[in-house]
Amino acid sequence: MNHVAFIPQARTLMGPGPSDVHPEVLTAMARPTIGHLDPQFIQLMDDLKRKLQWAFQTKNTLTLPVSAPGSAGMEACFANLVSPGDKVLVCQNGVFGGRMAENVTRLGGELILLQSDWGRAIDPEHVASMLKAHPDTKIVAFVHAETSTGVCSDAKAICDIAAAAGCLTIVDCVTSLGGIPVALDDWGADAAYSGSQKCLSCAPGLSPLSMSDRAIEVIKNRTVPVASWFLDMNLVMGYWGANTTRAYHHTAPINALYGLHQSLVLLEQEGLEAAWRRHMHHHMGLRAGLEAMGLTFVVPEEERLPQLNLVSVPEGVDEARVRQRLLNEFNLEIGAGLGVFAGKVWRIGLMGYASRRENVLLCVSALESVLADMGAPITQGQALSATMSALA
Ligand SMILES: *Cc1c(COP(=O)(O)O)cnc(C)c1O
Repeated sequence: MNHVAFIPQARTLMGPGPSDVHPEVLTAMARPTIGHLDPQFIQLMDDLKRKLQWAFQTKNTLTLPVSAPGSAGMEACFANLVSPGDKVLVCQNGVFGGRMAENVTRLGGELILLQSDWGRAIDPEHVASMLKAHPDTKIVAFVHAETSTGVCSDAKAICDIAAAAGCLTIVDCVTSLGGIPVALDDWGADAAYSGSQKCLSCAPGLSPLSMSDRAIEVIKNRTVPVASWFLDMNLVMGYWGANTTRAYHHTAPINALYGLHQSLVLLEQEGLEAAWRRHMHHHMGLRAGLEAMGLTFVVPEEERLPQLNLVSVPEGVDEARVRQRLLNEFNLEIGAGLGVFAGKVWRIGLMGYASRRENVLLCVSALESVLADMGAPITQGQALSATMSALA
């Protein structure tokens, strides 16, 4: 023990998350802790629910932040909605769809797996044909923004097909909320969850979640209790729900919730559409610089996420060494490839507060200088000016 405080070197976070936390969010988190049943805190909870409804674009009364990271939001949806023996169609086009599948089997559900190419969107027609082959399917689950591959799937089209087949839908919006349009009521989605640390400019550890009245009915009519005590929405709503006695369930992460509240205040001040435009604008700037160097995007343009850019590593380059040098010499973090893309791509995030001009300029210039220094086969000298003109 050396009795010395932990003071990290600040970094610029341009990986797949966590992303840069807005300074006002960090300030909010440092405010005095109050009790989790304090009337002031109850007010904050009500305001948080309203702000999350707005961000998700839903009127769902069951809209709240789960007191744990995005993975817990995922688990909450499956644990509450899947009963043993239920057929669940999981659409997988990356890492996170695989985790959904794992949730279904662990809960005793019957997994129907739609496997689709990594780096491509889920084809709604494929969902329709799977549902025709399995007409007794109860739930369709998919990832809106696959962070492992940088792909956006058409949530409305998939939800429409699922609803027409009488299925509930579970949608992973961890990387999409705040970065690209998310509209639960317009989609007709039944359950969706997100994460605080991606496009919301907040610290990791919370999972905004929303469920439709249809989903609540299914939970109320379960014959087998929800296997997870902590994530059982019947119990969580005793604390978070309207017109309840606000019974103690668990101690809310008070200061973390101050942070989430502040991140939503910032999003309100900016406006949802403006935030989506900002993510797209900086993506275009980054893209111009990377392409000017000769790096290529993996995902077809119309399926790309502006907030998560997958580019291929040039021939003969030690990709891990590049990331290490960016971190050591520029305090810049970018992400590695996962699964079938391991060692082949970089994942460059422009999420939330990280999606800003100086980050794009830093990333393009740092990457170009490191690659050039390592003798990589890239075109030199044009990246920064291409980015500047794209951002002009
Ligand atoms: C990050 C992420 C998760 C998991 O969130 P954690 O906060 O890391 O638990 C789930 N789904 C997607 C698409 C993600 O990007």
